[in-house]
Amino acid sequence: MQNKKAVSDIKLFVLDMDGTFYLGNRIYEGSLDFLNKVKETGREFIFFTNNSSKAPKDYIEKLKKMNCYIEKKDILTSGDVTIEYLKSYYNGASVYLLGTKELEKSFKEAGISLVTTKPDIVVVGFDMTITYEKLEKACTYIRNGAKFIATHMDINCPTEEGFIPDCGAICAAIELSTGVKPEFMGKPTEKTVAMITKLTGYQAEEIAFVGDRLYTDVATGVNNGSTGILVLTGETKLEDVDKSEIKPDFIFNSIKDIGDSL
Ligand SMILES: [Mg+2]
Repeated sequence: MQNKKAVSDIKLFVLDMDGTFYLGNRIYEGSLDFLNKVKETGREFIFFTNNSSKAPKDYIEKLKKMNCYIEKKDILTSGDVTIEYLKSYYNGASVYLLGTKELEKSFKEAGISLVTTKPDIVVVGFDMTITYEKLEKACTYIRNGAKFIATHMDINCPTEEGFIPDCGAICAAIELSTGVKPEFMGKPTEKTVAMITKLTGYQAEEIAFVGDRLYTDVATGVNNGSTGILVLTGETKLEDVDKSEIKPDFIFNSIKDIGDSL
């Protein structure tokens, strides 16, 4: 695809995982070749997933089974963006968290004060352990004035058995009950780009967001001064691009092909 930008100008590739690097538990052919090419050419990569139900260490383990060896610094989740945001703008605030044990652990390790009554902020993640009691408390606290933050806006999460309700769907229930809209973190928000530039030292224009979804992965890049690269190994078909308002800077069949172009 012709564009005034060039893929070769990219210094840091921010990679989506499912549908981009692997599908379920199966790594795509050529994914490791891509990482090698990035390293060989003096560039860097980082994995970024909106899925806040798991901690970075869970993904490190998953990738290890695919012969892909990465360290903690090589992966971030929307949960990490949320933690960074809380520490930067709401340092010391108390949080009622709707999240999995893994997310809870990440928040605690970051020193965030988690409470079960009278929180300053309600944070909603991809909580696969949600109960009516949690939902009720979250709504009550928000109605009483607590700020409403969500790790990411994805409405459904694809699984091998089909879609399951994600963070955005849980937030929709809370919004309907309270009339309050959440402030979203994760892709495609500028908060994700801000956190990555801060942590890696790269400028937004040196970074490309690579993924199989236009409205999260690609939008993060094209809407926030970075580059958005679409790969066709996951959710999006080439004909979907015409119908979408979000236009990728580049389109590749797979991440292997991105590596081949470097
Ligand atoms: Mg994906």
